[in-house]
Amino acid sequence: MSDNLYQHFHTVIERQPEATFMTTPAGRVIRYGDLPGLTAGLAGAMQAMGVAPGDRVAVQVEKSPETILLYLACLRMGGVYLPLNTAYTGEEIAYFLADAEPALFVCRPEDEASARALCTDAAQTSVATLDGDGQGSLIEAAARAEPMSGITPRTANDLASILYTSGTTGRSKGAMLTHGNLLSNARALAETWRFTPDDRLIHALPIFHIHGLFVACNTVLASGASMLYLPRFDADEVIDAMVDGTVLMGVPTFYTRLLKSPRLTRDAVAAMRLFVSGSAPLTTETHNAFSERTGVAILERYGMTETGMNSSNPYDGERCAGTVGFPLPGVEIRITQPEQATALPDGEVGMIEVRGPNVFSGYWGMPEKTAEELRSDGWFITGDLGMIDDRGYLQIVGRGKDLVISGGYNVYPREVEQIIDEHPDVEESAVIGVAHPDFGEGVTAVVVPAAGANPSESSIQQALDGRLARFKQPKRVVFVDALPRNAMGKVQKNQLRDTYATLYSASE
Ligand code: ATP
Ligand code: MG
Repeated sequence: MSDNLYQHFHTVIERQPEATFMTTPAGRVIRYGDLPGLTAGLAGAMQAMGVAPGDRVAVQVEKSPETILLYLACLRMGGVYLPLNTAYTGEEIAYFLADAEPALFVCRPEDEASARALCTDAAQTSVATLDGDGQGSLIEAAARAEPMSGITPRTANDLASILYTSGTTGRSKGAMLTHGNLLSNARALAETWRFTPDDRLIHALPIFHIHGLFVACNTVLASGASMLYLPRFDADEVIDAMVDGTVLMGVPTFYTRLLKSPRLTRDAVAAMRLFVSGSAPLTTETHNAFSERTGVAILERYGMTETGMNSSNPYDGERCAGTVGFPLPGVEIRITQPEQATALPDGEVGMIEVRGPNVFSGYWGMPEKTAEELRSDGWFITGDLGMIDDRGYLQIVGRGKDLVISGGYNVYPREVEQIIDEHPDVEESAVIGVAHPDFGEGVTAVVVPAAGANPSESSIQQALDGRLARFKQPKRVVFVDALPRNAMGKVQKNQLRDTYATLYSASE
């Protein structure tokens, strides 16, 4: 059998054509049996526009059920799906198109004219919109095109997607993911989180990122479950959906926002069997507050664009706050000393490395970067620091690039943030390293006060006395209304480091 991921989904489609694949708030229902016809039209339209197997299809459109169908149509015809963050500006899009040289760029109707202007020079890129009444609407073209028949055969090593990383630590890199990578990950997740055709996933994540696209959609399709589609996260809409849903996949900001709603109660979550958090660290505070309010322990997991999911807290065993659990089936995780390819003993902090069928095949157009991060024996150097505790749970200590070296000592920001966040007058915090004339880097806390509170710098510093070694304590605490975050709720520490770059040189 071909290893096209869509082929695997097709076996599920044939098994249960009457089952619901997706419902929308407007009452639309897409059944599994509708998928072959819907994807055949879109795939036929793309073929008519000259897209061939192995070609890249870049997509920057708002989330809609059609976007998910477009992704499936692209898989089916053997195209390489390349979603782009809807927040990217024209200048950024120009960079990605030049980098990826797609055969087709599917854009928003309002961007069509500028996209066409951009693509006149680019290497043979056609432009289409997904919907709208512009000249290039794919949905309209699908009604006219010869529908694609069959499914393009692919091997497990053929590319299914180029997915750009979030750009948290620098310029986004295009991770090349194969059909085999995506299938192994979907199966491992469906098994670990016990997905069945009776599950209904509440889908409120963006779909240009690994989490909402592959983790959510592929796990549903591989297990024959269904999706309660929501266009975006809204706490009330998600709480409403919990009546029909069984699983929520979310990022930590979903949970902090849900906790702000008085409607989040034990009764509200009674029909749900699983709440998952990932993409950014879930604070122990949020984990505990959620379980006190609802009686449910959020399951935290760890993954990234280059690998999909790597580890998960146990479904049955204890879900340990502040940890990301154990490797998924088929995935190996080890902790190494930077520059050395040997594993450190449990309990020691080092670089997290991952190996398995989920690991990508390299960065698009960046052979040197690929060679730096992907060892020849298959281990991927994640860039995250962590340790394995005495019970075998993996703990993420932070990103290597966020490590602060102050006076020659290593300070892991997350350890400091966790204690600051316990302060009653603090909503949240981010700890960064800022150039300091004496210490090399000065530990610096950027703090958002709790609603109505007005904490002083010294009250925060006093709260850390006796709990953290002196070298870990912030030299300065600055207060802000909100932390800069991206669409996945990740704190943009690069931006904070730029903002406060001269904090010590200016004041001392
Ligand atoms: P870039 O690689 O471009 O700097 P990025 O690493 O944020 O951006 P993603 O692939 O979207 O891009 O994110 C993966 C990263 O998110 C992981 O390497 C890790 O740092 C972080 N992450 C994911 N899940 C968790 C988690 N449960 N706890 C802590 N960090 C997490
Ligand atoms: Mg990364």
